Amino acid sequence: MKIADLHADIGYDLLQHKHDHQRLTCEHLHKLEKGEVAYCSIANYFDGSQTLEEMKEMMDHSLKMIEDNGAVLLKNGSDFKDKTGVFMTVEGMCGVKDHPEQWVQFMKDHHVLIASLCWNEANALAKGAKGEADYGLTELGKQVILAMEEKNILLDVSHVSDDAFYDIMKVATRPVLATHSNARALCGAARNLKDDQIDMIGKTGGLIGMNGYINFISENPDEQDAEHLALHAKYIADRIGVEHVALGFDFMDYFEDGDGKMAKGLTDASCAQNMVEALRHHFTEKEVEMICYQNVCNFFEKYL
Ligand SMILES: [Zn+2]
Repeated sequence: MKIADLHADIGYDLLQHKHDHQRLTCEHLHKLEKGEVAYCSIANYFDGSQTLEEMKEMMDHSLKMIEDNGAVLLKNGSDFKDKTGVFMTVEGMCGVKDHPEQWVQFMKDHHVLIASLCWNEANALAKGAKGEADYGLTELGKQVILAMEEKNILLDVSHVSDDAFYDIMKVATRPVLATHSNARALCGAARNLKDDQIDMIGKTGGLIGMNGYINFISENPDEQDAEHLALHAKYIADRIGVEHVALGFDFMDYFEDGDGKMAKGLTDASCAQNMVEALRHHFTEKEVEMICYQNVCNFFEKYL
């Protein structure tokens, strides 16, 4: 079955291997193909240390690699109707200190479809899940959100702190995604969503992507597998409807320290079909299809 993955740090990985121009094909595309991941995020991931110039360098490089490796870039909602391929996303905007409109225009020019204000850190826009600051969302962060709404770039809240989350929800008027977060009721990680946060995302018409990182699935090592990730999908679907559930695996196999971080059965993108099997134990075939890719395609077609 086709799969859409809302979050993969591939943009970051490509720049780490800047001189390997085959990296996208050799490390990523063949695994995506094997796992039938037909739609995949190329997340340009910024951990809080990058300057604006370094952020731009990664995004330039990602686009160049997509082109040089012959991958199909999905640029807008209608592309999800009749094509499969990869799409640009941004995770964290640590280098942005001013001129929100110019930055958002830069993202637009680089075909970014989804972007988050911060990674785990606190930056000039918002506080992340592990950030230390006495604010949630800043005035600059608010301006970025408004500029993104105007330019039709969708907002990802996966990494924000709880206070930033509630601040953002007061400002955002368009559907909001959490591209790679699970349910905190089932696993108490700060990166997972509380029940009321799940409900609020559902009310915006948004999407929540299930994350395959072991520590977001369960505190119990015996439960860190695809089967237990499917329980998060079930929990969220029961609360707000299956049409709001998607996948955002956050595979880390290609990072040097990536060993042992992903759920059993979900080591890398080539095993993504194991998630389909796990979902089948809790959902009808039609619902599995929705979670695996249809919800994402519908969402982009509708809101981009
Ligand atoms: Zn992340």
